[in-house]
Amino acid sequence: MRAEIIAIGTELTSGAKLDTNSQWLSLQLADLGIPVHFHSTVADDLEANVDILRIASRRADLVLITGGLGPTLDDLTRDAMARLADVELELHQPSLDQIEQFFRNRGGAMPERNRVQAMIPVGAEPLANPIGTAPGIWMRLPREVRSAGSSHSLEGPCLLAALPGVPSEMKKMFLEQVRPRLAGGNVVIRRARINCFGIGESHTEELLGELTARGHDPEIGITAHEATITLRMIAQGNSEEECRDKIETASREIRDRLGEYVFGVEDEELEHVVVRELHARGLKLVTMEAGTGGLLAERIAHVEQARSCYLGGMVLMHCSGDLVELGENHRRKTGADYVLIVGSEEIRTDHQGHAVSTIPIGLIGPDVEQIQPLTWSGNPAITRSRAYKAALDLLRRHLRQGEAGHFRA
Ligand code: ATP
Ligand code: MG
Repeated sequence: MRAEIIAIGTELTSGAKLDTNSQWLSLQLADLGIPVHFHSTVADDLEANVDILRIASRRADLVLITGGLGPTLDDLTRDAMARLADVELELHQPSLDQIEQFFRNRGGAMPERNRVQAMIPVGAEPLANPIGTAPGIWMRLPREVRSAGSSHSLEGPCLLAALPGVPSEMKKMFLEQVRPRLAGGNVVIRRARINCFGIGESHTEELLGELTARGHDPEIGITAHEATITLRMIAQGNSEEECRDKIETASREIRDRLGEYVFGVEDEELEHVVVRELHARGLKLVTMEAGTGGLLAERIAHVEQARSCYLGGMVLMHCSGDLVELGENHRRKTGADYVLIVGSEEIRTDHQGHAVSTIPIGLIGPDVEQIQPLTWSGNPAITRSRAYKAALDLLRRHLRQGEAGHFRA
């Protein structure tokens, strides 16, 4: 079985709103072991709706549609589905009763326009919507078995489910009404993430080698976000345990190959790791940063346990003095064990005309006094994130070394 998701709404095709429904539904289907091959987005236009439904029902076995179920003239999903199946719309009395009740509960009468929401294509089934007005639509579209030569053999009817556009209504209807109707395979799917810093995407791929090859189980993908590299694993198996074993084996292999670059899993960020380590050892930290707009302080401060180990930070627009002296002063005045430093960015142009930025990153404490330049010629939009993360990573690595029993001078 393969699926297609269609998001309907001119607010989506015009760019006014972002289609988040398709993303959520894709993740849900992945958990059921149903791969999604297409996302389509289409305006509130009847012809366009019928076209895309026709195309989708020919190339997918399951089509999930969101939006266009409202009572206004631009809500056309039910009409498009009726046209697709070549049937009329008919009134579904229990749905109409429910819609009338919905308005009575709110202390009013149902506007005549809402009656259309109880109309569904002949032969289709309504999907209850206990938190909104419009019921969804469940339809089985008979189709001829595809002739040879098609890339994908389509057997049996195409299943279509039309859900509301409002995300909360859509999710509830999917979970309560659609998911139970999808037999699903007996395939179990589990996901896991490993986070790394200090290494680029291509270097990561090189070190991981065949682990990231297509068809590897678990499947391992690499994504980068503001200088953090995330390895996303998707394991398939017959049981939860089998998936867990596969993920554990792959995780060990990844850690072996990437070593110190790995800092956390799932939603863990560098600041979480650093705060946890400082808290566990009863160490106090202050920060001093220039040109990052307080990003370093903000990231650390929002971690739950930060109060126990983070005394605060100094945020400068620019810093021209001797960083070691300034940092050490700040540390001594506050009584902290460590001061973590991000100095001012300096930008020069290389011989090819590219901007190269250098930011001093430093750590001073009882067992360390280190200032090192971070050089960067990539996307300037992530320079600040890169800088604060490099500072946190410096401290993270230092604390780990201390744990191993050999401090750096
Ligand atoms: P209702 O029955 O509540 O009117 P509907 O099925 O007609 O819902 P729309 O009118 O198309 O849905 O959209 C309702 C709301 O849901 C709008 O605020 C819209 O921006 C939002 N919405 C619609 N589609 C999506 C989507 N794909 N992703 C995120 N939000 C969406
Ligand atoms: Mg709409």
